Amino acid sequence: VPELPEVETIRVSLAPHLDGRQFGGVEVWDPVAVRYPDAETFAAALPGRRIVRLGRRGKYLLVALAPAGRLILHLRMSGRLYWRDRPCTPERHSRLRLHLDDGSCLDFIDMRRLGGVYLPDAQGRGEPQGLSGLGPEPLSRRFTPAHLGREARRRRTTVKAFLLDQRVVAGLGNIYVDEALFRARLHPTRPVSGLTDAELERLARAIRAVLRDGLTMRGVSFSLYRDGLGRRGQMTDHLRVYGRAGAPCVACGGPVHRTRVAGRGTSFCPACQAPPTPDADADAAPGMGTSRGGGIGRDVHRARLSGRGGRA
Ligand SMILES: [Zn+2]
Repeated sequence: VPELPEVETIRVSLAPHLDGRQFGGVEVWDPVAVRYPDAETFAAALPGRRIVRLGRRGKYLLVALAPAGRLILHLRMSGRLYWRDRPCTPERHSRLRLHLDDGSCLDFIDMRRLGGVYLPDAQGRGEPQGLSGLGPEPLSRRFTPAHLGREARRRRTTVKAFLLDQRVVAGLGNIYVDEALFRARLHPTRPVSGLTDAELERLARAIRAVLRDGLTMRGVSFSLYRDGLGRRGQMTDHLRVYGRAGAPCVACGGPVHRTRVAGRGTSFCPACQAPPTPDADADAAPGMGTSRGGGIGRDVHRARLSGRGGRA
């Protein structure tokens, strides 16, 4: 569940307590949580290293260490970090505890045991798979409609699966993808290679907007997510489609639907996100016809793509 806004909120909440601190002892209660190296080596290697900076890339927290190395944390579905100024009784799903030199400690708690910590060696062995192949940060200048367009043309998939692919854009998950598609008025099953320039622009803008809202609201808290100090986020009340199946659409009043796309529960408004071309695109690409949707043929995509060149 933690996506970019949640991980960034955790980072911001933890940074003042962690920056400049030195790691003391390590307690591993569940060796599965140590993804690299093994738990014993990890517990021996971390103490004495200093935290230079707490960073983030996509959904990864990156802890730059002195004199060398970095600690990487990935929360996956249910992982949580909880900093306290003095050690308390571990929670039921606490997996490990990192002590700091001022007597405080950072607990990693993970009900589903999918997340974990990585301490790659000097040769870079042990980096989590996928970290090096991440697409641009969606709130950086590298993330543009042109970037989305380049990636979209290479792929035969739905726009929903496209946005969940961390190689396309880093940090999005099920919640913010559904929200971005709603704001961009794009049906989740639209073939991504068929999106027009206008739609790609709308999509890039919508992605930035939902992430900025998520950051402002300090994340979505359904059940498990908290920031690094145990506080809930307020984004849940501002979601427009995710978790609102059956409730009235905030734009048209019709019921929000829920289906499965890309193997994930997907919420959308069938009236606001209809498969056929929205009017704006018909204006933007005159003469390209109106055939569109899940059953669209490959040749039609090609025609649409080649037809866009003149407008750029
Ligand atoms: Zn609607």
